[in-house]
Amino acid sequence: MKRIQRTDLIVLKSEKSGENHRLVTMFTENFGLVRALAFGASGSRSRMRATSAPYCRSDGELYHDPVKDLWRITDLNGKNLYDGIRGNLKKFYTVSFMSEVVLKTYGGGDERVYKLFAKTLDLIDRSDNDKEVGILLILYLWRYLWMNGVLPDLSECSHCGRDIMRGESVFYKGDGLFCCSGCISSSSLELNQQAIEYLYKTSTMTYEKALSVESDESSLISLNKCLIMIVQALVEYPLKSLKSGGAFI
Ligand SMILES: [Zn+2]
Repeated sequence: MKRIQRTDLIVLKSEKSGENHRLVTMFTENFGLVRALAFGASGSRSRMRATSAPYCRSDGELYHDPVKDLWRITDLNGKNLYDGIRGNLKKFYTVSFMSEVVLKTYGGGDERVYKLFAKTLDLIDRSDNDKEVGILLILYLWRYLWMNGVLPDLSECSHCGRDIMRGESVFYKGDGLFCCSGCISSSSLELNQQAIEYLYKTSTMTYEKALSVESDESSLISLNKCLIMIVQALVEYPLKSLKSGGAFI
């Protein structure tokens, strides 16, 4: 493998290291999650000072030492600093949540996930209303679960095995599983027909097309809750971003 590598990337985490270096965790298009040292990036004159901060997207030049399997960032040519995300709490916490899930699932699969992640950030950054940011998270999480091969089955009760009919609600019972109305417990979360139709209808659309589909507020609220719970169960670890920013997501 060549030692100098170029890739599109988004910074997910950036910690100070030593006097003025930074240890940066990035989601990269070509190599998945990469942790690399950016020498001098905390210095006031460093070109990488701004671009090594979380949620910046860059065309990166990375040096890889194949013997020690260590990465170093040699250049981060900023493509999008996503100021829109940093200037809005809902956007910021939504992206923090998405990032934490990517970190905890080791990049979640292949380079398709990177493309999906980057596209979602682009649209969240540019969005001018909170409802749209919420919808983008729903569209993203459903696709993310699908790409990870863990899309829940909404057509059959996981408890009694009976087929769920069209027009019927399904109930989330935890651990990524859904059941029918006959098998619910008091804590089950309902996804009604409108919510299910919305998911199925938008699942094969581009984001641009999906954003123009009519959606009612209560379906979006239950889908948001439900998908976050499924992702939380998948990660098997209490997500910090939900604790700190749950009220905004
Ligand atoms: Zn059942």
